Amino acid sequence: LEKDEEADRKTKESHSGRLLGEPIVRYENVTKSFGDLEVIKGIDLTIHAGEKLALIGPSGSGKTTLGRMLMTLEEPTSGMITIDGEPLWHMNNRRGQLVRANEKHLHRMREKVGMVFQHFNLFPHLTVLRNVTLAPTTVLKMSKEEAHERAVTMLRKVGLESKLDVYPAQLSGGQKQRVAIARALVMQPKVLVFDEVTSALDPELVGEVLEVIKEIAQETDTAMMLITHEMDFAKDIADTVVFGAEGRIVEQGCPTELFDNPKSERLRSFLSRFL
Ligand code: ADP
Repeated sequence: LEKDEEADRKTKESHSGRLLGEPIVRYENVTKSFGDLEVIKGIDLTIHAGEKLALIGPSGSGKTTLGRMLMTLEEPTSGMITIDGEPLWHMNNRRGQLVRANEKHLHRMREKVGMVFQHFNLFPHLTVLRNVTLAPTTVLKMSKEEAHERAVTMLRKVGLESKLDVYPAQLSGGQKQRVAIARALVMQPKVLVFDEVTSALDPELVGEVLEVIKEIAQETDTAMMLITHEMDFAKDIADTVVFGAEGRIVEQGCPTELFDNPKSERLRSFLSRFL
């Protein structure tokens, strides 16, 4: 019985009815300024194990910056980000005081996060397969055989098992983006950030990439943060939708709540642009 109670505490039913695990990512009162420009103005946000969280909002509202801070590409100006309960940008020194994280700590924490960018950032001089096996062999020190096996599995998942020996230049934009997704998945991160992964694609290639993400979202327990302008996609796959504007979270809830019954004028006016 005690075990059941503990399990209860650890899980939370998502808005969509799926059971979510314990918190994986927490932003606590996070701010970020670039010079005098404060782009994140005190954000509290939790992503649970298994949760698919869609982040929507106008351009310039700080969505990418939130993702980049998780990926350790930007340092918060104040506040705390934790992954698996462990501070990302802070660590304990020998006296047990919380101090700024060093490179070694950041490296270790970074392995818990995968990110897929708008521009695929594939290595042009490496084959598809090598693009996917590179990080597992160099960062995770995985054997070549194991990395190969895992990479092939992931490339099969994104429908590219026939392209293993091809170079990125020979692929369509949609195929490149699917390689980038396989490359992120192969690291088995705790959380995957997708940053507008379809916005640089020709319209006819958007569908295949969204479809692959949707399949992965349904079949893996990896937490996901999906920064997107594709409202139907967000509605379809998200457990939670977060609407941000000007560096703050304006509304947060289940897709039907936010899309069908927006409470704020801001969200209503934002959504009206997609009708
Ligand atoms: P979104 O993803 O919602 O479009 P961003 O996080 O990309 O928003 O940007 C938020 C704001 O921060 C924008 O005004 C952008 O110009 C600014 N910004 C982002 N990165 C930098 C940077 N490295 N230096 C200066 N300003 C930046």
